[in-house]
Amino acid sequence: MIDLHTHSTASDGTDSPARLVEVAARAGIGTLAITDHDTTSGWAEAAEAAGRFQVSLVRGAEISAIARTPGWGTGVHLLAYLHDPTHPDLLGETERTRADRESRARRMVDLLAEDFPITWDDLLAQTKPGTTLGRPHLADALVVAGVVRDRDEAFATILRPGTRYYVGHYAPDAVAAVRAVRAAGGVPVLAHPGADARGRIVPDSTIEELAAAGLAGLEVDHRDHTPDTRRRLRDLAESLGLLVTGSSDFHGAGKQNRIGENTTAPAVLEAIADQGALEVLG
Ligand code: AMP
Ligand code: ZN
Ligand code: FE
Ligand code: FE
Repeated sequence: MIDLHTHSTASDGTDSPARLVEVAARAGIGTLAITDHDTTSGWAEAAEAAGRFQVSLVRGAEISAIARTPGWGTGVHLLAYLHDPTHPDLLGETERTRADRESRARRMVDLLAEDFPITWDDLLAQTKPGTTLGRPHLADALVVAGVVRDRDEAFATILRPGTRYYVGHYAPDAVAAVRAVRAAGGVPVLAHPGADARGRIVPDSTIEELAAAGLAGLEVDHRDHTPDTRRRLRDLAESLGLLVTGSSDFHGAGKQNRIGENTTAPAVLEAIADQGALEVLG
């Protein structure tokens, strides 16, 4: 089983990178990608554990970006596989995003604190130093404060875009992000492009534009996609010559997603490995 999209405590997953690899091994995953939001800080720990648990490891990240779509921009997530983590263009963008995610979290805590018993220290208590901060950490602080039951409830109510507590954050342009991933030797795959229940999605014309800029694939099999959406995306991928991946987007106890619930075909993993600057470990 090949699962190419998972999160650890380096971002908003609840398992440490080593524990994530262990969970994958126990679930029968042969090849795992660690794809934390806007960071590669979990790679070293995951690589050490991958050796111990005999799991092949694809080092990756999930890059926040904004696609230029008619009217408003649309937030998208770009999976980057096997890239040079020190390449200045991509690293510059992710560092800028991470810094603004911190300012944004501070602003959201300030707004939340007007109505709920939560402080910046409560938020920090839910994270490891260096973590890419996100709304899930705010959700965890709200759970501890007894405001909501779990992350799902927080996202369905207080933390939804459009509430008075929601603040956006900086993210690079999506075309520029695709180019930056390629420039770093990475393989860019658009994450959950049809997840319309959680927000606006991009039109096919944007996916065509990203494909022209060097996009390698579409994440088609994902729990946020209906069977209809999967068919539509599979056809689009075929017509644009893009790879098709499937993944769990596992976040540990932070989301319902079970590791390995969607998987990627071995031939697609091979194509990703061929295109990437780094080796698949193990
Ligand atoms: P942010 O990037 O900080 O705006 O937060 C978005 C992140 O929250 C995404 O990576 C999702 O994986 C996560 N997320 C979205 N909805 C939920 C939910 N209902 N429960 C837990 N995590 C969620
Ligand atoms: Zn996440
Ligand atoms: Fe995502
Ligand atoms: Fe994700």
